[in-house]
Amino acid sequence: MASNTDRLSKHFTLREMTTTSSGLLNQPASPQVLDNLRSLCSQILEPVRAHYERPVIIHSGYRSPDVNKAVGGSSASQHVKGEAVDFHVSGHSVYDLAIWISNTLDYDQLILENFLPGIPTSGWVHCSFARNNRGQDLTKFKGSKMYHPGIILKPE
Ligand SMILES: [Zn+2]
Repeated sequence: MASNTDRLSKHFTLREMTTTSSGLLNQPASPQVLDNLRSLCSQILEPVRAHYERPVIIHSGYRSPDVNKAVGGSSASQHVKGEAVDFHVSGHSVYDLAIWISNTLDYDQLILENFLPGIPTSGWVHCSFARNNRGQDLTKFKGSKMYHPGIILKPE
């Protein structure tokens, strides 16, 4: 069984990618999930860390089905497969982070999530990596359930 202190990539551990405030046990059940988490770390989080040279703060990576239910995640959430991570870069605008990822990395789905117009450090970036990456960009503002196409600073 994988241990919490195991590294998934040079700078990211299983502990960071399984963090949860739910109080529930949150251990990946399958080697496939661990492989997916490794890909997320090497393809998304490591390039972000190398570019910004700042700590990457992970809000949520892997979610067991129970944890996902407890936090109100969608049943189709890529977090359950270990394919998605929510994070921000310490001291940086999440909007700028989303734009940089969109222009630079290969990813499946990128969401600027719970962003508040005018507050650059609000919200977080949700980014997923899969075998057939769609390169989809969306923005969801705090207080709204609507997903707008593209990475945008304010609702039209
Ligand atoms: Zn997410």
